[in-house]
Amino acid sequence: MHPSVSKLLELQKVDQELRSLTKDIDSLPAEEAKRRKNLDVLIAQTTAAREVVNKTELDTRALENAIRGSDANISKLNERLNTVRNNAEYQATLFQIEAVRKERDATQEECLALIEGIDEQKATLATAEAAEAEEQKVFDAFLAEAEQLRASRADSIAEVKGRRDAVAEGVAEDLLGTYEGLFKTRDGMAVCPVEDNFCQGCYNKVTMNDIAKLMGKSSVVTCGSCQRILYLQA
Ligand SMILES: [Zn+2]
Repeated sequence: MHPSVSKLLELQKVDQELRSLTKDIDSLPAEEAKRRKNLDVLIAQTTAAREVVNKTELDTRALENAIRGSDANISKLNERLNTVRNNAEYQATLFQIEAVRKERDATQEECLALIEGIDEQKATLATAEAAEAEEQKVFDAFLAEAEQLRASRADSIAEVKGRRDAVAEGVAEDLLGTYEGLFKTRDGMAVCPVEDNFCQGCYNKVTMNDIAKLMGKSSVVTCGSCQRILYLQA
């Protein structure tokens, strides 16, 4: 085997090891973003439900104030009935009382309707809060697990990376670049054996000319079909 290819083969073993160590860790940020988005949807639902309840409570309080105002007004008008001097004034005051009472009753009806609806709104809020809390718990557990996974792998990854640097040393830079590109695009197999004249990466036939070159061990041979770096299976 060409010495550079031999080194690359060794490097590939290290890179595959590194890949299996980092594969699940590399997917963590995307997974975290996805989960955070789901949680944000639930938070938004809780916020919206809370705003509905708050608004109903504010509106109810405003209507209750208006009712109290009308009640005070009615008492005042009733007192005035005792001091009016003539029938016309008496009738006018009665008429006024009736008008205020009508408005008060309408307000009270509106207020009761709001109070009637608030239980359902509060139930919706409670459901939303429970769903959010549950998702938050799951999310926190995910973050803790992710952190634990990262921490538990840190030493192994550092060790393999150190080994990788040592193995990669001495390989020509352009060949190393070609190898690294292939490792990514060829699913972790940049260097592959030839068996019975077939490339074991893509299963296409390798030319006799390339086989001769491989046997000569003096040049780096790549597959004409998949571009993988080849070596002869011993
Ligand atoms: Zn091939």
